[in-house]
Amino acid sequence: TFTNDKKEDGDNGEQRLTKVTYNIVFVTAEAAPYSKTGGLGDVCGSLPIALATHGHRVMVLSPRYLNRTLDKNYASAKDLGKRIRVSCFGGEQEVAFFHEYRAGVDWVFVDHPSYKRPGSLYGDENGTFGDNQFRYTLLCHAACEAPLVLPLGGYTYGENCLFLVNDWHAGLVPILLAAKYRPHGVYKDARSILVIHNLAHQGVEPAITYGNLGLPPQWYGALEWVFPNWARKHALDRGETVNILKGAIVTTDRILTVSQGYAWEITTAEGGQGLNELLSCRESVLDGITNGIDVDVWNPASDKHIPFNYSVDDLSGKHLCKAALQKDLGLSVRPDCPLIGFIGRLDYQKGTDIILSAMPELLQDDVQFIMLGSGDPATEQWMRWAESAYRDKFRGWIGFNEPISHHITAGCDIILMPSRFEPCGLNQLYAMRYGSVPVVHCTGGLRDTVETFNPFADEDGAGTGWTFSPLSKESMLAALRTAIKTYREHKSSWEGLMKRGMLKDFSWERAAVQYEQIMEWAVLDPP
Ligand code: ADP
Repeated sequence: TFTNDKKEDGDNGEQRLTKVTYNIVFVTAEAAPYSKTGGLGDVCGSLPIALATHGHRVMVLSPRYLNRTLDKNYASAKDLGKRIRVSCFGGEQEVAFFHEYRAGVDWVFVDHPSYKRPGSLYGDENGTFGDNQFRYTLLCHAACEAPLVLPLGGYTYGENCLFLVNDWHAGLVPILLAAKYRPHGVYKDARSILVIHNLAHQGVEPAITYGNLGLPPQWYGALEWVFPNWARKHALDRGETVNILKGAIVTTDRILTVSQGYAWEITTAEGGQGLNELLSCRESVLDGITNGIDVDVWNPASDKHIPFNYSVDDLSGKHLCKAALQKDLGLSVRPDCPLIGFIGRLDYQKGTDIILSAMPELLQDDVQFIMLGSGDPATEQWMRWAESAYRDKFRGWIGFNEPISHHITAGCDIILMPSRFEPCGLNQLYAMRYGSVPVVHCTGGLRDTVETFNPFADEDGAGTGWTFSPLSKESMLAALRTAIKTYREHKSSWEGLMKRGMLKDFSWERAAVQYEQIMEWAVLDPP
């Protein structure tokens, strides 16, 4: 059978069915703490552990990225001694598997020379790596073989497993199940759930790439993707491409996104990134589950990255964190001055252009602003300039730095997120847990998780922050000014906002139960 049925003694001594558990295989380009550039890494580092705690057998497959920064992350993972050969891109590639059993999860790392290079996971200072299609094609082929060939803890996962396919990097998995394995009677009862963390990245390449993917020719139509005229780069371009994510949407059993708001947005022309009609066709298997957060890593009461710990019952440590942050940044140490923070990729998606355009007006007010991020070179350049232009009010920290991100989350009064679109967003969740009040664009997961302050409900009001719409400099400034006024003039309301945020349950426990429901539907009610 597909499942491992767990039986437990009932009150009357009879055996009764209490829980169905699955053999779950996550396939992902990132899994924290091994590899992470954003939310995908956080989710694939935490959700597997939560599902394992619920009794499922869970494996996470991701590349074994090696370079000077990442090497140490894989120190405990041992070579399983198993080699497989993958035919793709006109050759045969030998792939090895490394393994670490941690927190009840089999972390399996696919080893190949193409994952060993300096830079970030996907590129370096010269831009995105040109062979990413190849690197993730290898990952997907290896991921389909792993449950069949790797004896983890003594025995394989076997054919009857459930693949959780994360973003385009893993998108070839459901296509391979349908095109390569099932016609030969393998993985007949396996199921897949495609989890879309960000629809903006789809794995699109010229049509000629198809021949490299290791798929039978008759499946070309599943991946075929023709760009509309406006998106073509020159007159001779016929817009013919293969789109891995499209192929995954077509072949997977169920589709999930990381919030309900985003699940709806991707079926609209505005949010669908060209795939909205296709996603609408699959609406009956499309759901959204808001991400959880790692409440141990992100816990103000025990966080090692912040100078003072605190909790909802005693916020004094939070005020000390703010003073320490101001001091570290060389800003004047003033409890009364609102300290606003931004953490994230410097990218059009994150609305950093809106922040930049609003800054001259915002900084006329008595506020301080700290921005942590890396990405768009022009924004990084602007941050350097702004530090000297607004010496007593603005600090820019260029780079990816987890300890600093914790300290900013704890030390700020307000966390600003003017994202153009946001599948889920994690920083607003971290902010609330640390008693920092989020001010966010009303979109996707931000809309789902931040409730705008209502001063008229109850004694201290209701809500956990502010959402603003539309996305413009004016509406963002208006929301920020309301937040700042509340901070300055209504101390008890502010404390109410902080405490309600801190008391919210963003644990993976809640999300894991919802994932179990979707998995059950995938297994019992395949489309
Ligand atoms: P996305 O996945 O689109 O980048 P999310 O909000 O879902 O956005 O997740 C971003 C994650 O990456 C969060 O954990 C955030 O704290 C972290 N992060 C982003 N930029 C930085 C940075 N410069 N330094 C440290 N952590 C960062």
